[in-house]
Amino acid sequence: MKKRIYKSMVAISIITIVFSFILIAGVMYHSQYINMQQDVKDNARYISAGFNLSGETYLGELEDNIGTNRITWISKDGTVLYDSEADVKTMENHLNRPEIKEALKNGQGEAVHLSSTLGTQTFYYALLLDDGTVLRVSASTNSVFKSLYNSLPLMLIVSVSILILSLFIAGWLTKKIVTPINNLNLENPLSNEIYDELTPLLSRMSKQNIQIKHQFKELNEKREEFSAITNNMKEGLVVINNKAQIISINKSAIRIFNIEGIDTINKHILNLNRSAALQDAVKAATGGNSHEGILKNKDKVYHILSNPVYENNVVRGAILLIHDMTEQYMAEKIRREFSANVSHELKTPLTSISGYAELIKNGMVKEKDIQLFAQRIYDEADHLITLIDDIINLSRLDEKDIRHEKENIDLMDLSNEIINRLKPKANKKGVNLFIKGDHARISGSRHILEEMIYNLCDNAIKYNNENGKVTVSILDKANMAVFTIEDNGIGIPKKHQSRIFERFYRVDKSHSRETGGTGLGLSIVKHGAEYHNAWIQLESEPGIGTKITITIPKE
Ligand code: ADP
Repeated sequence: MKKRIYKSMVAISIITIVFSFILIAGVMYHSQYINMQQDVKDNARYISAGFNLSGETYLGELEDNIGTNRITWISKDGTVLYDSEADVKTMENHLNRPEIKEALKNGQGEAVHLSSTLGTQTFYYALLLDDGTVLRVSASTNSVFKSLYNSLPLMLIVSVSILILSLFIAGWLTKKIVTPINNLNLENPLSNEIYDELTPLLSRMSKQNIQIKHQFKELNEKREEFSAITNNMKEGLVVINNKAQIISINKSAIRIFNIEGIDTINKHILNLNRSAALQDAVKAATGGNSHEGILKNKDKVYHILSNPVYENNVVRGAILLIHDMTEQYMAEKIRREFSANVSHELKTPLTSISGYAELIKNGMVKEKDIQLFAQRIYDEADHLITLIDDIINLSRLDEKDIRHEKENIDLMDLSNEIINRLKPKANKKGVNLFIKGDHARISGSRHILEEMIYNLCDNAIKYNNENGKVTVSILDKANMAVFTIEDNGIGIPKKHQSRIFERFYRVDKSHSRETGGTGLGLSIVKHGAEYHNAWIQLESEPGIGTKITITIPKE
């Protein structure tokens, strides 16, 4: 704006200077020309008066006093009788000259002759003398263009001086006009006291300011509302534009992609994660299609859902919803593995039973060995029943919906009962069973607790040595009961300790099978503990023994 005002002012100055120059020159030239005409006419009248009095001799006397005027005396027939500047003999007849013609006719005549080559113009004034001859006085001046041309250097000096002055004044004026505009208080437009012409603009600005503030407030509220919703979502939410740059990302997504403290707004979404799953989701959504996929990130599994965002039938961006499904995925995986394992575990004893039975059927077993084979079939069938019982128990525990009846149980009494049941087995192996502690009571499912204690005691006997020792102790604490079972058996190597609670996991498969183990006992213990909100602690040293502690809240 400043430049524009300045330029306009300079342009006005230049135009004014040029016009003034032309106008002044014109006016000056005109008045000079009028003066010259008047001089010539006056001179002609003086000379004609002198001539009428003194005759031809007067012309001779005049010669030195005529100045720049040229005097010509012409006879009635147009012959030049006298000329103050030229030789009359060389001069043509003047009868046809307009001023002469006019003078002969009207007593006076005038004409102007322009010489384009010399850039001058000559004014002729003729008067009819008393004797019938004509006296003509003439004078030359520069033409208007020549006059202009002659005064050009001076005018240029004047113009440049005026121009410099104009530039300076234009700069000063521009600054004076623009400074108050530059210093306008735009926050509060109506507080400005400036040009009246700006008042409508300022009041409009004030109105718009109020409107913008209002809209901004509304926008902020909406953004906060959106943040509040998205940041409290468990799912990760990422909004991207059609160039796959992140517009918005919620807290869960930041956590999922592990980018705390990193500014990802306006960055490409693949900066979060370069997995093919994310690339496919982004590609599909920005291409206008919905997409679902599985994103694996370290030990986590996410379900990723991407949807395009349309505006006027054009894809403007996409929304990605990332849901942590590690638990379901793992549960599904365990279930799949479990089914495979169950089939395998069931097949082994059944194959043995079928094999033994076939041998007997084909008469390939001697009479005396039949009992031994029957015993084997019995043992395998027994193992099969135990296995199926364990599977049923575990399935029941798996079914979170099934509510097991809770009752007040004395852990000491229950443990005693189980120990008595297991005594024959312990005696067979020469293992001594001990029980000590308090009659701690908890609220729980008898069936589940029975299964848990039975499996723990059974393991402590199974994985023990000849003449080994198993001690069960029960501690009654304020809010909880602590059940501990300790043996001095074979122990569990460190690397297996974290896995023995998995289904069908055995440290030594053949040993487990020999002792009638199913690989499900500790799994049932783990699930039972979870059901009672209890926690398990395992301490074991190979060759020294194993200690398992279960802390059960009373309620
Ligand atoms: P299993 O039916 O094979 O006993 P469990 O789930 O009860 O299955 O136990 C898993 C594995 O943990 C066992 O195969 C065994 O190797 C190990 N284990 C469990 N209890 C003990 C223990 N008290 N001493 C040594 N090893 C044990």
